Amino acid sequence: MKKQIICTSCPIGCQLEVVIEDGLCTQVSGNACPRGKTYAEQECLRPARMVSTSLLIPGRSLPLSVRTDRPMAKDEIKACLQAIAEIKVQLPVKVGDVLLANVLGSEVNIIATRNYE
Ligand code: SF4
Repeated sequence: MKKQIICTSCPIGCQLEVVIEDGLCTQVSGNACPRGKTYAEQECLRPARMVSTSLLIPGRSLPLSVRTDRPMAKDEIKACLQAIAEIKVQLPVKVGDVLLANVLGSEVNIIATRNYE
């Protein structure tokens, strides 16, 4: 199977052609640097995204912005958002505080992206 994707590792945005056989990336072309091959393998075999959202704090009008500290497997993002919605935040919170560790058994943590008194 051949797949066309755009490398988003830098602003150049090389158009990559990836050959996938038996669950492996057997050929990557169009990349102007080695990072494109790494990106293609990640994107075609284990796509992942950073997740950013906000949490409502009971009794407060301002939500708390949060994000994952590393990309989350794309097919687990919906469950990740559900897990985030269930976090009971203990104030105060400082930027970078881990609010939920190892979400869904992954190595991904949910962290605060702002201070909240
Ligand atoms: S392959 Fe290299 S040069 Fe091309 S977009 Fe990706 S990181 Fe940038």
